[in-house]
Amino acid sequence: MWLYLHMVLKVTKILAFQSLSGVYSAREFVWWYNGHPDYSSFKPDLQSSDTAVILGQGNVALDVARILLRPTTELASTDIASHALSALEESSIRKVYLIGRRGPVQAALTTKELREVLGIKNLHIRIKETDLSVTPADEEEMKSIRARKKKKIYELLSKAAAAATRTSEADRDQRELHFVFFRQPDRFLESDERKGHVSGVNLEKTILESVGSGKQIAVGTGEFEDLNCSMVLKAIGYKSVPINGVPFDHKKGIVPNVNGRVISHTSGGISKTEPGLYVCGWLKRGPEGIIATNLICAEETVGSIREDIEEEDGICKSEKEGSKGLLQLLKERKVKKVDFSGWEKIDAKEKQMGSEINKPREKLVTWEDLLAAATN
Ligand code: NAP
Repeated sequence: MWLYLHMVLKVTKILAFQSLSGVYSAREFVWWYNGHPDYSSFKPDLQSSDTAVILGQGNVALDVARILLRPTTELASTDIASHALSALEESSIRKVYLIGRRGPVQAALTTKELREVLGIKNLHIRIKETDLSVTPADEEEMKSIRARKKKKIYELLSKAAAAATRTSEADRDQRELHFVFFRQPDRFLESDERKGHVSGVNLEKTILESVGSGKQIAVGTGEFEDLNCSMVLKAIGYKSVPINGVPFDHKKGIVPNVNGRVISHTSGGISKTEPGLYVCGWLKRGPEGIIATNLICAEETVGSIREDIEEEDGICKSEKEGSKGLLQLLKERKVKKVDFSGWEKIDAKEKQMGSEINKPREKLVTWEDLLAAATN
């Protein structure tokens, strides 16, 4: 189910390459398998070869790799959208390459998500042994504040690589996940047979260069190689974009704030807040963190709002009309809205439909169906 909070959050994918069919952003793919109404007719090319390339080695990259590689018999009992399940049942993708421009010590993964992928039945993990060697700078990096997590990820990857067994050509259902390190995408390759369709990615080998405070960045070596595939998913992170009239820190890609209170300007080291304007989530702190991180972040902003409401003569007490004012404005602008009780009706309907087919929920994937369920 999709609940839209048209607040200040607007996020866009970065990295613009030339457009070839078969190249998608991971966001499009995630929206498709999660039943986003704008993507229910999206048709990723899952049948042109057995290989897909995912650019990036963060949790989104892992999420999409998991969907491509997990047996559909298992996906069938999750809340995946039915149109995605049907397409994946027909998918010929058996090999997925996760491309990282840095090494295993720098992979932007978290342990729980990595374990889930490594635990997929009949999945063979492939990592080049040479990519697993650790430099003194890597050792140093693993001593940083997030050391334990980085070390754990590195250990999990090393263990998975060591446990790798030979694959058999005869086993059609056998799947492979290749972690490819020290490679950055240079350009997409166009198929000779199918004009306008991707046939691979040209990758540049990289090395790491220390830039102080234990951080290492990827630097291209000028050495290139091609990796053939029929589908590419770009999962290289997100970047917030500004909206008119709202302060924005272009360098950090966030709305400047103190505990969620939006800062209008700073002078002489003193920050002046924008009365009655608050921010939370990725727009407040940048595009990182798991769901729990967002919960804590939202609690902090709500805490600030509550303090301002309780304050004598505070901004929330004066000019603002609260929900009454908002509802009036929506009415004036003829905005169709779904309130919480409508959301609860959609939730109940999806769960009831799911219970009939052994799924936690069956998603409604068109705006018409969602609005009909909300107003029933
Ligand atoms: P991310 O964690 O920022 O990872 C982005 C990946 O793309 C990194 O490997 C990064 O490499 C690479 N990258 C960035 N720019 C690149 C470029 N120009 N060329 C090549 N590679 C590039 O982003 P994400 O995976 O989209 O996730 C966003 C946030 O959501 C993360 O905090 C993630 O943990 C969270 N998330 C959580 C869950 C969950 O809780 N289950 C699920 C999905 C996402 P470098 O490190 O070298 O920059």
